[in-house]
Amino acid sequence: MRIPSTIAGLPELSSLSADERRALMKSCDAPGPLRLWSFNLSRGIFLAALLFLLLHGGGLAQRLSGLLGAVLMVVATVAFALVMHAATIVQMRHRIRTAIEEASSGDLPPICLNCGHDCAAIESRRCPECGSWRRSSDRILEHAE
Ligand SMILES: [Zn+2]
Repeated sequence: MRIPSTIAGLPELSSLSADERRALMKSCDAPGPLRLWSFNLSRGIFLAALLFLLLHGGGLAQRLSGLLGAVLMVVATVAFALVMHAATIVQMRHRIRTAIEEASSGDLPPICLNCGHDCAAIESRRCPECGSWRRSSDRILEHAE
């Protein structure tokens, strides 16, 4: 799965109008780009500091002094921030999919929850673009068979 850099970049949101997207993101408490990245960057800094604290306990941090240590700290911060970003996107995507399905109350969702294809005018229970089930309950039934 491709991880977009912002919540608004998720494919299921691409066929919505700007107003619909804003309303959906608000109902899911989805963070904007600034909140998303500042939050995950601060989590990255915290985890990198925690890692260096653990290394310090093992006596490794003394050998990672100077430029090497500084570079490693930055690399660790960015790596942790990216992992946290991916985790946030997956979590928000789940929330947004659930909200789209709930909003379609019994009917098929107008948007493919897998690829974001606009399925509003289509009767089929499967997305013509990617072939996935349009409702997650159908997906669960398929696996149960
Ligand atoms: Zn699809």
